[in-house]
Amino acid sequence: MQHRRIPSHHPSLPAITDNFGMTFPDHWDDGTDPSTPDHQIHWYDERTAIIRQSLRTNFEGPFLYLLLGDERALLLDTGTGHVPLRPLIEELAGERELVVAHTHGHGDHVGGDGEFDQPVGRSAEEVAAYFGLADWPNGVVQFDLGGRLLDVVPIPGHHVSHIAAYDRSTRILFSGDSLYPGRLYVFDWPAFRASVARLAAFVADGNPVEWVLGAHIELTSQPGQDYEMGADKHPGEHVLQLRPDVLSELADVLAGAGEEPVRIERDHFIVYPV
Ligand SMILES: [Zn+2]
Ligand SMILES: [Zn+2]
Repeated sequence: MQHRRIPSHHPSLPAITDNFGMTFPDHWDDGTDPSTPDHQIHWYDERTAIIRQSLRTNFEGPFLYLLLGDERALLLDTGTGHVPLRPLIEELAGERELVVAHTHGHGDHVGGDGEFDQPVGRSAEEVAAYFGLADWPNGVVQFDLGGRLLDVVPIPGHHVSHIAAYDRSTRILFSGDSLYPGRLYVFDWPAFRASVARLAAFVADGNPVEWVLGAHIELTSQPGQDYEMGADKHPGEHVLQLRPDVLSELADVLAGAGEEPVRIERDHFIVYPV
């Protein structure tokens, strides 16, 4: 675990070039080492913690994100619930008011909810009400952590209450299970196509993305090659971070795919209708 001083106040949103460390680890806990901690914590910058729940604790190995503002800290997802999470989050968030929300309501992202007071609900209605989205799944709303603005974009399709969060300060787009280097399970094909199109339009509309960060890694470092479903060891994983052109690529292939659900294998993702 790496601790750094958290600046108490940011006079303005930093330009992308001013952004502290901005790093990713050489590799994530891939489940092959039985002695790793339950969570791997990586500070991308001084206010952005990327947390991976060890594959050793559950094969989903989900990624959680803790975003620190001047007043609030947002925990995006609570993992599978197989290991304690709250003490770690409280330590990292410090005195800030903690908001616990989710990219979506699947069990591997809300499993730790019981440890926290009043996490945001899992239904689309509850998510829309909490963030003030009056016309779900349309529209985008801002969510202010204090000196750090996020844009919340509804993107149902993988799950009815799925959102993406865009962090203006780092230009990271948090994409949950809707885009990550792995199998993108599509439960509602028309909704997923529409959501990805809206998300790509949001980015094109003056919201530049540096990285897309999702909630799992299921691909090897070989283009388009996935681990077996349920594999709890991922030697030689694909990196977590995706460039924004991968979102454009997803939007393009979905637009071209038409109205019938179809499996699409690409280098950095697999569209996987279920
Ligand atoms: Zn999911
Ligand atoms: Zn998931």
